[in-house]
Order: sequence, then C-alpha cells, then structure tokens
Amino acid sequence: MSTGKINVQTENIFPIIKKFLYSDHEIFLRELVSNAVDASQKLKTLSIAGEFKGELSHLQVDVKIDKEAKTLTISDKGVGMTADEIDRYINQIAFSGAEEFVNKYKDKMDSGAIIGHFGLGFYSAFMVAQKVEIITRSFRESDENKAVRWECDGSPEFTLTDTLRSERGTDIILHLNEDSMEFMETERVETLLNKYCKFLPVEIQFEGKIINNTKPAWVKKPADLKEEDYLAFYKELYPYSEDPLFHIHLNVDYPFNLTGILYFPRLKKNIEAQKNKIQLYSSQVFVTDSVEGIVPDFLMLLHGVIDSPDIPLNVSRSYLQSDSNVKKISSHITKKVADRLEEIFKDNRPDFESKWDDIGVFIKYGMLSDDKFYDRARKFCLLKNTENTFYTLDEYKEKAAPLQTDKNNKTVYLYASNTDDQHAYIEAAKGRGYDVLLMEGPLDSHFLNALEMKIENISFVRVDADTIEKLIVKEESSVSILSKEQEEMLKSIAEKNVPIEQYAVVLENLQPSDQPVVITRPEFMRRMKEMSATGGGYSFMGEMKENFNVIINTNHPLMSKILAEPASELQAIKMKQVIDLARLSQNLLKGEELTNFINKSVELL
Ligand code: ADP
Ligand code: MG
Repeated sequence: MSTGKINVQTENIFPIIKKFLYSDHEIFLRELVSNAVDASQKLKTLSIAGEFKGELSHLQVDVKIDKEAKTLTISDKGVGMTADEIDRYINQIAFSGAEEFVNKYKDKMDSGAIIGHFGLGFYSAFMVAQKVEIITRSFRESDENKAVRWECDGSPEFTLTDTLRSERGTDIILHLNEDSMEFMETERVETLLNKYCKFLPVEIQFEGKIINNTKPAWVKKPADLKEEDYLAFYKELYPYSEDPLFHIHLNVDYPFNLTGILYFPRLKKNIEAQKNKIQLYSSQVFVTDSVEGIVPDFLMLLHGVIDSPDIPLNVSRSYLQSDSNVKKISSHITKKVADRLEEIFKDNRPDFESKWDDIGVFIKYGMLSDDKFYDRARKFCLLKNTENTFYTLDEYKEKAAPLQTDKNNKTVYLYASNTDDQHAYIEAAKGRGYDVLLMEGPLDSHFLNALEMKIENISFVRVDADTIEKLIVKEESSVSILSKEQEEMLKSIAEKNVPIEQYAVVLENLQPSDQPVVITRPEFMRRMKEMSATGGGYSFMGEMKENFNVIINTNHPLMSKILAEPASELQAIKMKQVIDLARLSQNLLKGEELTNFINKSVELL
C-alpha cells in the first residue's frame, strides 16, 4: 500500500472544486459516465491498432445505486488503469490523460472519439461525495498487472493499495455526502442520464435498462437517412412538438469538426418562446441547450442538435463569443442555412411559398440581424400581397414601379397590417390600381424599415397613413372650392370638436365623392412606436399616445353646408357628428364619447 498527496498547486483544491468549478453539481455524473465511455472507446481504438489482442466482448457502462451503502457506482469494461496510470492521470490533476492518448493515437481514430477535455472531470465527483473509491484493472496482460484500489476522502491525501478484481475495467464508487442524497433517487439519476447521456456512443445501463441511443441520426451519413428517419429523430428530441418543416444536416470536418441536424419548426407569432431549443453536444455528450453566443441569435429559432468537439466547453460565455472557432462555426451554420433555403426555393417554389408564413419570420429575423445573411436571402425573401400572391424583392419592384412611383421618383410600397381593420383603405388603394402588401408579422415594422435602407428609391407606406390622394403623390393636388377665411373657420370648428392632444386637423381638397372626414395614422410616428414596442427605435416612443390626423375634405358638399349654418352651435354639432362617425369607423370612439355620439344621433334623427 502507498499513500501520498495529490499533486496540485493549491493546498486543498476540493473546496474550490465544490464551490466554483461547476455551478451545477449534477454534472459530476456527465463527467464520470463520459470518462467510462472514453475508457471503452480507447479499448476499441487499441484493438483496432492491434495493441489489445484480447476479447473486446460487450462494452457497456453500468450505473448503480446502493441505497444501504449510500453509494453510486459507475462501472465500465474499458482500458482500466495500472497503479502507475492512477498516479499519472488521477494524482497529478493538472495532467489530462485524454490529451496524451489523443496525441499518441491521433491518426488511428477520429478526433471526436475521446470526450476528454471537459477539465477537472474526475474530481467533480467530490462535489457530491465525501469519499471516492476507484477499483480498476488495466487491460494489459502482464504479471505485474494487478488490480488497484484508490481511495480519497476529499482531503489531498489518498491511499493506493493492491486489490482483487479479475475483470478488466473500472468501478468508480461515490460515497455520497449528506447534501447529495438526491442522487440516491432512481428518478433523479434517470433524469440526469437522459439529459446528459442520451446519445453517448457506448451503451449505458441503469436499473436494468439501456438509457441511450448510441447512434443518433446526426452521426450517420445523410445518404443513409430517409425523410422519416429525420422526423423520428425530431420526435426523439421533442416528443410533443408539431412536425418540423424541413431539416439541414450539417457535416464539416475542416477547418473544424461539426456535425448536427437543424430543423425548421413551425414558428408561432411569439418568437421568444421558441428560443433555446437547440442542444449542443460535444462528441455526443450533452453540454447545454443555451446556445447563445455560439449560434447567431436568429438561428436560435431553429431546433435540433449541434455537435462539436472543437467548442471550448469550460469557459465563460463572453470568451465563447470571441473564440475564433465559435465564430467560424456560427458563420458556417448561417451559410448552410441560407444554402438550404435557396435550394428549396429554387427546386420547388410553390412549396417554399406554402411554408412562407412559418419561415418568413425566421428569414426576416436573419436579414435584420446579419448582413451576410441578408445578401444571400434577398434572392429568396418573399413579399406577400393581400391577394396572397408572392413576389421576390426584385419582382416586386418591377411590379410596383409603373403605377406606384411618386413625383420624387420613389416607388411607394403600400401595405396593410390587418385586412379587417384597414379594409376600407385597402379597397380604396385597389380602386386606384395599386397593389397592397400584407405585413402582419411581429418583425415587419423593423423589416420594412431595413428594406427602405437597403433598396434604393423605395418607401413603405401603410394604406391608412394618408388619404388616397397623398399616399402616392404624383402631382400637386387639386384646388379648394373654399376661400381662405372659410377654410380657417372650418379648421377651427373641427379643432374644437376632437381630443386635440391626439388628433391633428388637416384640410385637404379631396374629391366631392370621397368621404367628408377621414382618419389617418401618420406613417413615421406609428412605425417608430411599433418598433419601440418590439425592441429598437426610441423607447420613449412606446409610451406616447397614438397620433391621428383628421382629414377634412374641403370639397365635400357637407362642409359647405356646415359653413352655411347660421348658428355656430349647429355648425359645431354637425362637425362633431361627422368627425365622430369617421372615428367610429376606425374603432376609435369608446366609453362616454361613444354613448354621447349614439344619444346625439338618435336625437338628430
Ligand atoms: P479528462 O477526461 O479530461 O482526461 P478527467 O479528470 O475526467 O479528465 O480524467 C482524468 C484521466 O483519468 C482520464 O484522462 C483517464 O486517463 C483517467 N480515467 C478517468 N476515469 C477513467 C476510467 N473510468 N477508466 C480509465 N481511465 C480513467
Ligand atoms: Mg473526463
């Protein structure tokens, strides 16, 4: 038997491990099971290399709870360790055995085969155990090869003794501390194994059941998978979700290693709730499902799995974001996603159009947040009009230009955000032969703002932003039949009869056949307000009340009649009635004002 001091810089590393190493104590299980998997994979590699000539037999990792002894044991049939190796790999903490192994066998194995480099993996056991035993026997067939038992109670002292064990492999026995009795519960351990070990490449047995799928879809070749395999894998990841729209299989080995499958979900209007569905793995070990900083924000709307041994796992998020591998990975994924979308668009445009309502949000989000993605997506980004016809950005410019270009040579894209509320305005625009786009998505006010900046000489105007004459100004408007004095009078009567803090009165010379009063929502203020509500723009805008214009049609016969009334009281009553009628048509008359309006109408009739 030998005793010794674990070789670390700090006098006692365990308090540090317990407190700071991982905020989540539960990850000890991930670390120990992945070490067991590593040990099994190493033996396979040695067997392929001809250095291990014995029977591989069935490599399997076992996780067992012993409630009486209060122990949790992780056993494998992998390479095991000699006393020397324990000394090197366990006692000298700073030295990672996985790294040495990979360096030695790098041409005989795929680099992802050894999980390793999670950091102080094995020692994370002391976050939950007051004492840890290792009972291990190396695969080496020699007389000196004896089974050894290592034991440590969380102080820097350990004991190492010979022991009896006939089988190759390792048992890690954790004597749990009082605070960690939760890991005696079958359900708790099963949940953890499902979270971290569900796709590990070696079978993991717990309570008599194999808990993992050793060959998940993303590690297979795309050529070996059918559409239903992708769907089945999606259901394995998200059992209760609706079917996805389509998938992208990622497979890169240069200049970094990356595999994975990303799915396009059916996006609902609430995009925040859809985030954090991508799971990040490192060589099939679950790392996190919070991939912020690793994939671009807009890609977080996708679902699925990304697996890369090249993503540094034990570092802070701010470090991750500046890591050059992470940056490359993120731009690679963006490119792949754009390629796939373009492919679907080109191969089957009707299918692409039918999915637009779901993928449109995603594409617009990407175009807004990533210039490179914008450049790629402008080829397949679609605009939909109120007739449900789709156009690419180029196609639409061509369509709108002839009729909708104003006197300043700007092509005005008219849009509606709600076909019911804005029905009258849409009809008026169509009556003039104009086309009206449908912009009802959660990001649309930001999106059209961005398009105005990117595409030359266009501007977006909502159909209710102005009177039909002024939506697209082609020449100076017609003249008024009223005199200056009459106009001033009309304006002052009107101003006395609207809540002036929200409504600005504007006189216009519309056609006598147009409505006498029209309510409009000026584009700029309204859009700023919408943008601030969904993040961006000026936040103070969000707090401001809505603004409207009350357009008085000076050429409407009713206005001349109001002016001709002998009593100013009657002028006011009539003006108020006709303005309130216009407000009512826009659902802007509520409460007491509405009651008064109805009573007055009855009285007048
Ligand atoms: P890493 O896995 O990053 O190398 P760990 O602290 O998890 O770091 O493990 C240290 C080393 O201890 C491993 O590299 C390996 O050489 C050895 N080791 C740990 N667990 C086992 C095991 N179950 N079988 C064989 N060797 C093991
Ligand atoms: Mg490890």
